[in-house]
Amino acid sequence: MVPFLDVMTSQPILRIADAHPPFVLGIDVGGTGIKIGLVDDQGRTFGFRAIPTEEPRGPADAMRRVAETCREMLSDVGLCLQDIRRVGLGTPGSQDIPKGMLIEPPNHPHWHHFPIVSCLEKEIGLPVSFANDANAAAFGEFWVGTGRVYSSMVMLTLGTGVGGGVIVDDHLIVGKNSFGGECGHLIVDSSPDARLCVWGGGRGHLEAYASASAVAARAQEKIAAGATSILRSLQTPITAKRVYEAALQGDVFSLKLIDETAEYLGIGIATLVHVLDPGLVVLGGAMDFGGKDCTIGQRFLSATIRSFEERSFEYVAQGTRIEFASLGSDAGYLGAAGIARADSNQNEKNEK
Ligand SMILES: [Zn+2]
Repeated sequence: MVPFLDVMTSQPILRIADAHPPFVLGIDVGGTGIKIGLVDDQGRTFGFRAIPTEEPRGPADAMRRVAETCREMLSDVGLCLQDIRRVGLGTPGSQDIPKGMLIEPPNHPHWHHFPIVSCLEKEIGLPVSFANDANAAAFGEFWVGTGRVYSSMVMLTLGTGVGGGVIVDDHLIVGKNSFGGECGHLIVDSSPDARLCVWGGGRGHLEAYASASAVAARAQEKIAAGATSILRSLQTPITAKRVYEAALQGDVFSLKLIDETAEYLGIGIATLVHVLDPGLVVLGGAMDFGGKDCTIGQRFLSATIRSFEERSFEYVAQGTRIEFASLGSDAGYLGAAGIARADSNQNEKNEK
């Protein structure tokens, strides 16, 4: 048996007898773990397992373990690989999606310039659809999460960086250079002293303001410059999570920092909406300041909406919803499965 991680999906696990074929597999490669889900035609999970990424062992070893794990999971529910229509694979960028290549994913130094799609296809004996992990997460929310009743959607993923995904009329935007939906590099501040982006040093990018690392950096700089906050007495480095916890305790500095973050996010969203008019913008990722069930999360969302509305046309703002994501870290494997399903349906249509 392939060693696996003690990580579960928060999705309910459907009994195989209730699952609707055709079936797909969704695979989400992360820095520490790889999530693998068996998913039915309605986006319901009927098998799940996570295995360690073990990055230094390289992508070929990981894909061999993924394929073996898939065989084990299928055998557990009395199925085999022939019962699966297609596989969806999401990995961190950079990638060449049409060529099925990993280019230089920064957190996977041993995985550079690798033909991951052909490798997995050979190991598993099934066709593989390939996606950027943030795009896959967006497609997951679109298929079975917050976006399920929409035909277009933009998702912004607020984590260490800011990722994104754009779906227009049921189609995920991949783009000419496999760079589509990289909303973290939207320019939200064009002034000469705007903050620098970590990637390539672009100035004024959304990621330099609204990622968890940017929130931490902004807090540290302001406190170093003399701002008053309970964060000042921390023995550990300031993180976005500490800012959130301080805000929960009513720390005015932290509340203001969260409001400012929302302000920048609203600027980015206004630009996205004015180009795409998706009707729905979803905020995903770990930095949700407690999300929809927390007063700080609600304040963050309201401030984001307000900032967007101040910069948009009234009828456009009225016809646009901004909401939190609902699938958490399961969006990636569900979206990878959803992309495989969509590709398989498209191929069938083309054959007719
Ligand atoms: Zn950037």
